[in-house]
Amino acid sequence: MKSEAFAVKSVEWGEGWIQVKVPLPFSLRWVNSYLIPEINGGYALIDPGLHTAEAKSVWEWAFARYGISTTDVKRIVLTHQHPDHYGLAGWFQERSGAPVLMSALSHEYAVRMWGEDKSMSQAWVRLFARHGLPGDLLTQLEPHLESFVSQVSPQPEVTYLPLEGTISLGGREWEIVHTPGHASGHLCFYNRELRYMLCGDQVLPDITPNVSVIPGDPDRNPLLSFLNSLKRLSRYEVEMAFPGHRNPFPNFAERLMDLNGHHVGRLAELEGWLEQPQQAYALCARMFGKRTQNNIHQLRFAMSETLAHLFYLEEAGRIKSVEHASGILYHRTGGPHSV
Ligand SMILES: [Zn+2]
Ligand SMILES: [Zn+2]
Repeated sequence: MKSEAFAVKSVEWGEGWIQVKVPLPFSLRWVNSYLIPEINGGYALIDPGLHTAEAKSVWEWAFARYGISTTDVKRIVLTHQHPDHYGLAGWFQERSGAPVLMSALSHEYAVRMWGEDKSMSQAWVRLFARHGLPGDLLTQLEPHLESFVSQVSPQPEVTYLPLEGTISLGGREWEIVHTPGHASGHLCFYNRELRYMLCGDQVLPDITPNVSVIPGDPDRNPLLSFLNSLKRLSRYEVEMAFPGHRNPFPNFAERLMDLNGHHVGRLAELEGWLEQPQQAYALCARMFGKRTQNNIHQLRFAMSETLAHLFYLEEAGRIKSVEHASGILYHRTGGPHSV
């Protein structure tokens, strides 16, 4: 990512919208938060960012620049529950008293991940162990997952958004579009007059949104959900898409096709490697290379995404898994190749 793109911390858009680039301590660099002026005064705040000192100082800077005070935040709307979007919601709620709106499915994940009984971290270790992750990497996983707790605290009190229907933002009606795949319960918001799509992390320019198998998640085939969500989004005419990362972009329809093509290609590649039985970790190392070596954060995404592809292929009857004492092995069935 070019550094000058991030040197600009905020961008003003039509209708008085303000895009604030809230910094992240990962290679994604920043998350986009959007301030949308409400007709009765104040702002709706979309995806406030991760709870870090650096993020809070950018918010201080942005509020000073635009003459906004924390109590001007009237509603906090979350596209999904990932820490880089959800993390500051509770902190903003404490200071503004604003309701935090998100889907119940998204909130369930947040509770399982960072609630009292943090059972999900151990479930993640068990899942990756069965799929061949070496012991030295497994021991890094649990502390890594738990390191997010402070970055999503305090946890907000949540008001649920339905998976379909409308929400009023900035005096306009926005259609709620349920788009699972990148995250369970992920929502996009579409306005027909402006042809604006707030697309969270379901569709990103330049980079491919992560699609992950999550232990204990009711969705056992998140890649199928992701591809179906791309199809659902292709029904909307979009002039400008406002994503969770990188910058707003106009070529939404083209991007949907690119993302679909990327996964179709990856599925075929993976299937081609399975003449001989292999474990998911070996396939992950082959597919993602260096990213699996020394960065546990990247490795978790790479491993969960490899599993999302393997689960998809197995559901489609193109590969089969066999459980051995040493873990799970996948091999080709020699069935049809088409996706
Ligand atoms: Zn996300
Ligand atoms: Zn994100």
